[in-house]
Amino acid sequence: MITKPKGTIDILPADSGKWHFIENTARETARLYNLREIRTPNFEHTELFLRGVGETTDIVNKEMYTFTDKGGRSVTLKPEGTAGVARAYVENGLANEPKPLKMYYITPVYRYERPQAGRLREHRQFGVEIYGAANPSIDAETIMIARDTLKRLGIESAALNINSVGCPDCRKAYHETLRAYLKERLPQMCPTCNERFEKNPLRILDCKSPGCAGITANAPHITDYLCEPCKGHFDGVKKILDIYGVQYKVNPYIVRGLDYYNRTVFEFVADSERAQGTICGGGRYDRLVGDVGGSPEPAVGFGMGIERLINIMEAEGLLFDTAAKIDAYLVRADDSAAETIYKMAAEFRAQERNIEFDHLNRSVKAQFKAADKLGAEYAVVVGADELRSGAAKVKNLKTGKETAVPIQEACDYVCGSFMDDFLKEEYDEEEYAEMDDKQKIVYGKIKRTEKILEKVREAYRNIYFRKNKDK
Ligand SMILES: [Zn+2]
Ligand SMILES: [Zn+2]
Repeated sequence: MITKPKGTIDILPADSGKWHFIENTARETARLYNLREIRTPNFEHTELFLRGVGETTDIVNKEMYTFTDKGGRSVTLKPEGTAGVARAYVENGLANEPKPLKMYYITPVYRYERPQAGRLREHRQFGVEIYGAANPSIDAETIMIARDTLKRLGIESAALNINSVGCPDCRKAYHETLRAYLKERLPQMCPTCNERFEKNPLRILDCKSPGCAGITANAPHITDYLCEPCKGHFDGVKKILDIYGVQYKVNPYIVRGLDYYNRTVFEFVADSERAQGTICGGGRYDRLVGDVGGSPEPAVGFGMGIERLINIMEAEGLLFDTAAKIDAYLVRADDSAAETIYKMAAEFRAQERNIEFDHLNRSVKAQFKAADKLGAEYAVVVGADELRSGAAKVKNLKTGKETAVPIQEACDYVCGSFMDDFLKEEYDEEEYAEMDDKQKIVYGKIKRTEKILEKVREAYRNIYFRKNKDK
């Protein structure tokens, strides 16, 4: 048996609804903020990531999937989404588009990580990139996009941590202060921190090893060393978050693992009994576009791992019900009904209803069993008897109620019942009782238009999502 490579997963039909739900929620949130999707290649010239991600980062040093192609070029499977977007921005002259240019992506990313629980070598990310605006309002907006996405997914427990890592000017002064503090303590710190001491001391604050964390707990905070413009920017971000009514904590230990950040950095962290760890990370990176060969352009963004979101949601009891669900199953009582079933199937599908019928010559009993497994709401039965009488048997599989309906009208009848259920849900009893058939159609259309996004989304996704309060 050929197996999948280590660190990869198969997303099977029974589970893909979870990914759809998150991807659709991400797209829906992105739409509200006027973001548009950008898709860049899954591999790029290796040089892009050396310049765009930073040669001192773990990603570039240890974790990239780099290989030489048949033309002798070094290429790399994208380890993150940001550098490719910056490259595409420069290469396609997107600097000429109206600003800010607000983009998002949903993409697989590849990292050669040691296989361990929860670490995938290929996972998927939702990311946001906003170019061309330096105002703190766009930092705050980026944070809100992440916050709203999490909220719409039901993840309300995620805590927002923010920090400012300053600009090259103020960071220089801070680096000196930090180095002076760390210098005599270095022998007690881990080899990675020792390596970082010269090139990137800020990242020492990120070290999770208990010995190092104990030492850095008393280190000077960068927020005390910001230059006036950086301080003003950070104050601006906090003020706008206050206006939005968002809770946050200024956490001087958030520095993010990538070299390109300046000023605002942020993380959403799950911190409940059931789930822990970073869900989303992002910040500002005004240098990046310049680093990959464009004219400097302010930029801010974030990334969140989709599989990580799924783990958190499952741990938090935000259950997915991805069970199959169809509107109707057309039961062929015998072969004489075959033609009628095909025609009826086409009619249902033209009415936007998802239906199924038998392709395996199963008995009527087995067809009902299949309908049940598929979660069908109705069964429509046609056979020689029904053809003779001209009436199909329509059975509501939830209530068990059976009705004889002229074959020609069976589709309209079932679709009408769905509309009726919909109206009963939308209007109160009195309003509903007063409607005549014509009004029902008109009111139904109005309500349908009002609810079209929500309902269409639900119908197409065929997935129901609820918070399990009993857990
Ligand atoms: Zn500064
Ligand atoms: Zn360390």
